[in-house]
Amino acid sequence: MPNELFHQNELLVYNTTTRSKEVFRPLHAPFVGMYVCGPTVYSEPHLGNCRTFVSFDMIYRYLRHLGYKVRYVRNITDAGHIESTAGTTGDRISEQARLEQVEPMEIVQKYSTAFRNIMAKFNALPPDIEPTATGHIIEQIEMTKAILESGYAYEVDGNVFFDVEKFAKDHPYTQLSGRNLEEMLNNTRDLGGQELKKGRLDFALWIKAKPEHLQRWPSPWGEGYPGWHIECSAMSTKYLGKQFDIHGGGMDLIPTHHTNEVAQSVACNHTTPVRYWLHTNMLTVNGQKMSKSLGNSFLPEELFSGSHPLLDRGYSPMTVRFFMLQAHYSSTLDFTNEALQAAEKGYRRLMSMLENLEALKPSGAVDDTTEKALNASMLAMYAGMNNDFNTPQAIAAMNEASALINTAAHTGSGEISARPDTLERMQNTCRTFVYDVFGLKSEDDAGGDVLDGVMNLVIDIRKEARSNKDFATSDKIRDVLSAVGIVLKDSKEGTTWEQS
Ligand code: AMP
Ligand code: ZN
Repeated sequence: MPNELFHQNELLVYNTTTRSKEVFRPLHAPFVGMYVCGPTVYSEPHLGNCRTFVSFDMIYRYLRHLGYKVRYVRNITDAGHIESTAGTTGDRISEQARLEQVEPMEIVQKYSTAFRNIMAKFNALPPDIEPTATGHIIEQIEMTKAILESGYAYEVDGNVFFDVEKFAKDHPYTQLSGRNLEEMLNNTRDLGGQELKKGRLDFALWIKAKPEHLQRWPSPWGEGYPGWHIECSAMSTKYLGKQFDIHGGGMDLIPTHHTNEVAQSVACNHTTPVRYWLHTNMLTVNGQKMSKSLGNSFLPEELFSGSHPLLDRGYSPMTVRFFMLQAHYSSTLDFTNEALQAAEKGYRRLMSMLENLEALKPSGAVDDTTEKALNASMLAMYAGMNNDFNTPQAIAAMNEASALINTAAHTGSGEISARPDTLERMQNTCRTFVYDVFGLKSEDDAGGDVLDGVMNLVIDIRKEARSNKDFATSDKIRDVLSAVGIVLKDSKEGTTWEQS
């Protein structure tokens, strides 16, 4: 059963399907099935991608905190079907593989690892299942066969397409996006190479591989590879069932990827797959969506080190996580130096308030106003989170009590005039929210500064050794550092270091 302690109002979630906040009632409480569309692993995730995954990490954490047993499935999109914008060598994974002169699966491995490392830096919990598209080709073929049998798909020359107009006659195809089908039909441009499709909105379930296409599998329709949307339908059904509680992803996925996922699942399983569709809003730069193709994207590492030209300096992973939590997941979040500076202050203030709170002792006396303020703050923290995971509201509720706590900590003997059990609940609740729900952790700045200083010295000594052609010393420095988990990276600009 969910935690009843402060669960005084029910959890409301905004459901994209109904465009309203609804009381969250899982199909099989206390179990919750949650599927989130994962990254496409042909490059490192940019900060916008990270915002979406950090938001779902917070949602996962809060559901667990409420006592739900969540099965969180987040896939890895690694079957090469994302067309390259260059339009030269086909899909982006193959293109990257050719560029780096490696196998497509080496690209997939490299960027899946990079993605997991970045998420770990943001202190995001790993999902319970992380299935890959390439590991579920059979399931995708089976689902495609079932959709063909249902009559909502057709085969043309080794390709299988979903018949959108036929499906839309029988089912509310545009329910999730709220778009008008006629307008969609009129506004869709015919893209090159899609002349095999019957209808403009039809999408591929299976694609015949051209001779140069690297990732390919046998199928009843010949050698090819699956379309994008079918992987999520096949893997969510496999691990969470024909109907499950939560499906998430960025808002940009609503009109095509998620709309088509619903259509596929309805055609195959004869039921709507998802009870609550949750969508995160975009991280923007100067009001424009952060996107690799728009050329305005940042890598998290560039943000941590401050090496991006738009940045004044670097910001720590927890500052960036706090920056993300300061906005509601369904609002846009604009990226600026000022906003990051404010987030850094806000994060430090919160951590120092928690430290002060942890050290407080009950004075023995009970002051009514203090007692009320602490209780009100705790209730408001839960009210915020129960209001569609409203993290800014919950943070503000915690800050409400901060003046009281900080004053008590800094005056006299560090005592507060509250009942011992109220103080203990406040300490437990704030600790739980900061560490377990918001997923923040302390960053030992002092230790970091010392290490920075030592590393600058070591890098200087190694540079000197190399300029004296003393390669034994420079190699020794690299090897010893590597053994303690510090990797040196040499480039034209100089040497940087990283803890692995
Ligand atoms: P991709 O690797 O492109 O498939 O994207 C992974 C996830 O990041 C998807 O859920 C996208 O909706 C999401 N996403 C992409 N760009 C942004 C952005 N600028 N802000 C927030 N989420 C984004
Ligand atoms: Zn998906």
